[in-house]
Amino acid sequence: MRISLNLRVIKTNVSTSTPAPIILNVDDDEGVRYARHRILSLAGFQVFDASNAAETVVLAEEKQPDLVLLDVHLPDGSGIELCRKLKGPEKTASWMVLQISASALTASHAKESLDAGADGYLMEPVDPDVLVATVRSLLRLRQAEQALVSTNQKLENVNSELKRSNQDLEQFAFAASHDLQEPLRNISVFLALLDEELAGTLTERQNEYFTRVLQGAGRMGALIQDLLAYSQVGREGRQHSIVDLRESVAEAVQTFHQSASAPDFSIEVAPDLPAVVGDSTHLVSVFHNLISNALKYRRPDVETAVRIWGERSPGGELTVSVQDNGIGIAPAYQQQIFEPFKRLHGSEIPGNGIGLAVCRRIIQSHGGQLWVESELGSGSTFRLTLRPAANPSQRA
Ligand code: ADP
Repeated sequence: MRISLNLRVIKTNVSTSTPAPIILNVDDDEGVRYARHRILSLAGFQVFDASNAAETVVLAEEKQPDLVLLDVHLPDGSGIELCRKLKGPEKTASWMVLQISASALTASHAKESLDAGADGYLMEPVDPDVLVATVRSLLRLRQAEQALVSTNQKLENVNSELKRSNQDLEQFAFAASHDLQEPLRNISVFLALLDEELAGTLTERQNEYFTRVLQGAGRMGALIQDLLAYSQVGREGRQHSIVDLRESVAEAVQTFHQSASAPDFSIEVAPDLPAVVGDSTHLVSVFHNLISNALKYRRPDVETAVRIWGERSPGGELTVSVQDNGIGIAPAYQQQIFEPFKRLHGSEIPGNGIGLAVCRRIIQSHGGQLWVESELGSGSTFRLTLRPAANPSQRA
């Protein structure tokens, strides 16, 4: 094929500080090849020429071009087949392919080229300005793609780094809390022996000191247990099954009804609370924690009323709400309370500040989320998302 190209000098705007983009110029017609080479060189690109498919494959490997300007017709095969080969099965090769044709004029040819992975398609006669502008536009696209890939890669690296440091931290918390148990057990045993031996011999002040030491050891034991529980959630690889949420709530509530020290409270559980996929023991402990907090953080002048109900989103996700009429939580703390050991109260209300952190980890290990909506002085609603069992009527 012989094509006349109007040769004009097109000023380069390719920066001299970065290496010029590499173009592989493929055409079996020497005259056309020469003309395009000149246009692209004058536009500031580094241009290498190939006259057939075999040469193109070798040069592409060697030069790693940014773009291959590819004639549809080649003496040793179809340019469309070559495009398919150059772009690879996933059509994701890093170089761009701009197919150019003088004779394959139909729209279906253009479609075939693009389907084979070409990033653009031009039909002769091509104005030199349009050729250079199209090449530049594809290179900009490639640059944007590469930036995206590199950002994604960086994000992936940060993610896996975060995951690893989280795992390290969990491992550390587990090892530390596990190893701390042993010496603490010794301290408790010898304190108990001392208590027996010294009974009746201590002054009032010594007795008070002794009581404080015992309380300190007890509190430390509770903290270690909680830390261990926190670091273990999600590590044990527990099996999930179909869990009837009404039963989980009933089991959690039972402990309060059986406890003589629990204050009076009323609880209303929606009868249509569905079955979910999860770990029954863990879910009972979530409800236990939330109800326990509703009782601990109640308003002194009102009887505690707890309401539990579920709602399904149009997408099928289940949101369970646990509402109380307690003291509420100021907006500034509604995120922080889920951090381990974060407490908004002093020792006047017992607790270690780990309950909600454990609850959140349990719900996250079920693929869900836990958050709170609250107004200071008028109560809180803790909401958690869970995966409902496939058949809504299905119960454990
Ligand atoms: P703990 O109750 O042992 O302190 P949690 O992790 O369960 O630990 O709760 C963290 C903090 O969040 C509590 O110290 C309390 O200040 C606040 N909080 C939790 N639940 C409620 C609630 N239902 N109403 C008001 N405040 C709450």
